[in-house]
Amino acid sequence: MKSDIEIAREARMQPIAEIAGELGIPVEHLVPYGHTKAKVSLDYLQGLQDRADGKLILVTATSPTPAGEGKTTTSIGLADALRRSGRNASLCLREPSLGPCFGMKGGAAGGGYAQVVPMEDINLHFTGDMHAIGAAHNLLSAMIDNYIHWSNELRIDLRRISWPRVVDMNDRQLREIVTGCGGPANGFPMQSSFDITVASEVMAIFCLARNLEDLQQRLARIVIGQTRGELKPVTAEQVGASGAMTALLRDALAPNLVQSLENTPAFIHGGPFANIAHGCNSLIATRAALKLSDYVVTEAGFGADLGAEKFFNIKCRKSGLRPDAAVIVVTVRALKMHGGVAKEELTRENGEAVSKGLENLGRHIRNVGRFGVPVTVAINHFVSDTDAEIQLVKDYVAARGLEAHVCTSWADGGAGASALADTVAAIADTGRAQFHPLYDDEMSLWNKARTVAREIYGADDLQADKKIRDQFRQFEAEGYGHFPVCMAKTPYSFSTDPQLMGAPVNHSVKVRELKLAAGAEFLVVICGDIMRMPGLPRVPAANNIYVNEQGQIEGLF
Ligand code: ADP
Ligand code: MG
Repeated sequence: MKSDIEIAREARMQPIAEIAGELGIPVEHLVPYGHTKAKVSLDYLQGLQDRADGKLILVTATSPTPAGEGKTTTSIGLADALRRSGRNASLCLREPSLGPCFGMKGGAAGGGYAQVVPMEDINLHFTGDMHAIGAAHNLLSAMIDNYIHWSNELRIDLRRISWPRVVDMNDRQLREIVTGCGGPANGFPMQSSFDITVASEVMAIFCLARNLEDLQQRLARIVIGQTRGELKPVTAEQVGASGAMTALLRDALAPNLVQSLENTPAFIHGGPFANIAHGCNSLIATRAALKLSDYVVTEAGFGADLGAEKFFNIKCRKSGLRPDAAVIVVTVRALKMHGGVAKEELTRENGEAVSKGLENLGRHIRNVGRFGVPVTVAINHFVSDTDAEIQLVKDYVAARGLEAHVCTSWADGGAGASALADTVAAIADTGRAQFHPLYDDEMSLWNKARTVAREIYGADDLQADKKIRDQFRQFEAEGYGHFPVCMAKTPYSFSTDPQLMGAPVNHSVKVRELKLAAGAEFLVVICGDIMRMPGLPRVPAANNIYVNEQGQIEGLF
């Protein structure tokens, strides 16, 4: 088998104007970045508002394991398969971050024969959106410190600034820092910190904004810290930053269009974390795709307890998107791990472990059903899977009245997902989905978090110290009670203990910290240690990346 980058390099890409042409986008509304990438103008998209939407298909997965699930790979294969069957389909995916590319996970443009291209560009600088988002974020950081340096009329409390800096790199050394050393000319010495760019609230806002005006208003409402004494919230608008931040983001807000190996149109735009943010591509890209194609396949991060829950409760709630079908990706390998098998033992047939691990899939199926969205299961096929193991998964899913299809898109591209595509399209066509968020806007913030913990995580209850409970009430008093909650917890377990795989019961979820995202319009409820600035592993992927004699990039995967 060739490596991902070798396969990507052999792609027969069509000029991006032709891909856009297939969607009916006139060439004058494209802003080309070379020959195979383009942005689609916001003005053009604005003019499509009265068109009917296509069907929206969400791809999610079981709880992630080091064995790998393949949501992106399956999403691309599914969209390719829909298009092979003569349907007008497109993809909506997140923009990869440089951190994981050079760290452990590698690229995020799919794998094998289900990839989006140009792969190197998408994984590295692409159209510069990530840099624009980082620049907008750091402009605000600079303006806060500058405001304090010159006057600080608002009496911003230097010890209560909650706006970090960001960089799109895994760099643990920057997690906690001291700035402003070296005397009065250099500002006031202060503690600061760095997050990775995808963890920035600017990224979350970028992905939820309806248009430029909405973007600017949301940026203005970002809370950066509190005043001294009265502890009043201070916003980005108060330090005069939101206009300039919007200027930096204006061009980036137009969605990017590329293609899959099989020339399926793919919108790749925005990429927030799925724990401290909502974990899916921009609303603008999803809306554009829905106006321009009959079927839109999109992916949410991590497992369905985090990614799909937020896609439904945050993105769909606020925007009015109504998903028509969901696909839960599962692998036999991951099920074995959920059934207690170590990573080194995964290639050995083990029906018992698969059966035990199916509890994890079962809870995700139940959960997605609670949003009124019909589910199909995709078994992402690995070469080590045995027929007996696959049959166990199929039987389990059939017993719940659903279908499971083996998907071989990694090896076969769109041809490997044709049965899945037919089932999913048929479900979407019936209009059978009855989407609704899990809780109402009016429910108290505490009860929203408790509802997710009980209904989605299977927890007995939500716990918190009095200090945290008071903060919940304080945010309601300040007028944020109608926000949805954005639960930040480990993706590896339904519980807050990453070691508890499968479908743990008799656990409770403890809230450690709350963080208001006033511009993104959600309350981040932090339950456990959440990494906002990852580090590189002992041998980072970057050690094996280089440019060969032909000027091609090697080692990206
Ligand atoms: P996710 O979106 O769930 O994080 P990806 O689709 O990005 O997962 O896949 C993760 C990694 O696993 C990629 O490197 C991809 O090439 C690989 N992969 C996915 N499916 C398969 C498969 N069926 N066989 C072998 N490798 C696969
Ligand atoms: Mg992915």
